[in-house]
Amino acid sequence: MAEPGWAAGSWIAPHAVALEHWAILSLCLVLLFAVGAVSWRFLVDRLGRRRVREKFPGELAMLRAVLASLPDLIYVKDAKSRFLLANRGTAEVMGVRSGAELIGKTDFDFYPESVAAGFFHDEQRVIESGEPLVSRDEHVREADGRIRYILTTKVPLRDPGGHPIGVIGIGRNITALKETEAELKRAREDLHFKASHDSLTSLLNRGAILEMLERELARSARESLCMSVLIADLDHFKEVNDRFGHPVGDEVLREIAFRFAGAIRGYDLVGRYGGEEFLAVLTQCNAADAMMRAEQLREVIIAAPIPTTVGQIGMTVSLGVLASADWNYPGAELVLREVDVALYAAKAAGRNCCRLAVPGQQVARA
Ligand code: GH3
Ligand code: MG
Ligand code: MG
Repeated sequence: MAEPGWAAGSWIAPHAVALEHWAILSLCLVLLFAVGAVSWRFLVDRLGRRRVREKFPGELAMLRAVLASLPDLIYVKDAKSRFLLANRGTAEVMGVRSGAELIGKTDFDFYPESVAAGFFHDEQRVIESGEPLVSRDEHVREADGRIRYILTTKVPLRDPGGHPIGVIGIGRNITALKETEAELKRAREDLHFKASHDSLTSLLNRGAILEMLERELARSARESLCMSVLIADLDHFKEVNDRFGHPVGDEVLREIAFRFAGAIRGYDLVGRYGGEEFLAVLTQCNAADAMMRAEQLREVIIAAPIPTTVGQIGMTVSLGVLASADWNYPGAELVLREVDVALYAAKAAGRNCCRLAVPGQQVARA
């Protein structure tokens, strides 16, 4: 038997009919919404465009607005590099209130002769050659000493016939970027210095001076040059620490290092080899010269007592020396062993003196 509400002979149930109506209604709503959205968008676009057009009647007005809004420098100059047009970005960099103040003026009115001449030369080249100048770093020192960097591109301004009659410049103030770059460079150099220098004395540290020694040994062997190596060891330094304390010992080490660094030649190298031991690499230096230099280092220490916070402390130093005539291009390890033997001989001879190593005739170690 048919259920109540069913049309006789109908194969569609009443709730299915309701569903069908609902589906059609939903479809209509979706279509209506889509058409509405598209129309709305169209309307907004049109209104937006109309509003912009109302504000900027004609391309020129819009172009002016673009120039005024851009933070970058945009300017046009004539064949004699006089400003024909300049935007606010240019005015700011040139230190005037508006681009209008620049019209008819040249860089010579704002910058020192040498700086302005550089800009003028670049621009004249662009005009004469017709070739653009792309991404050139221009820098100017400002009144407060700060350097301002502008990344500039200059292209020729051409007349309708295609002949260059001026220059169009576009520039970006990259001072902040340059300053960050410089800071990074300083940090890298600082890091490199710390990795290769002793923190107490600022001399080359052990690793660095040994690396230099290896390099100089190889170079002198390759180029058949003479060289010498010396180690200076402070005499009875432990007593300084014991009597006055470690910080005073540090003061002494700092002053000794300072005197050594001042006493060696510019092309020689000195580093902190150990606690109170200093290693010097003397390039192109024979045995006689090396002994003379060792003597100078010894004398620079005894010349005057070391000033410290607890008063003056007299110090002496012993030195061992080895010259390349006395070796057959050995590695650093063997060289250092021989220098050490000479140093021991100086200590054994009563300290405060220099001894030259004579390989093969070694002083016996105690
Ligand atoms: P010698 O004349 O035989 O060389 O005697 P010395 O006392 O100089 O030598 P020794 O090897 O007995 O002692 C070296 C001392 O150097 C021991 C150590 O505590 C001290 N020393 C090493 N590095 C440092 C440092 O960085 N600062 C200070 N203050 N002392 C240091
Ligand atoms: Mg020592
Ligand atoms: Mg010592």
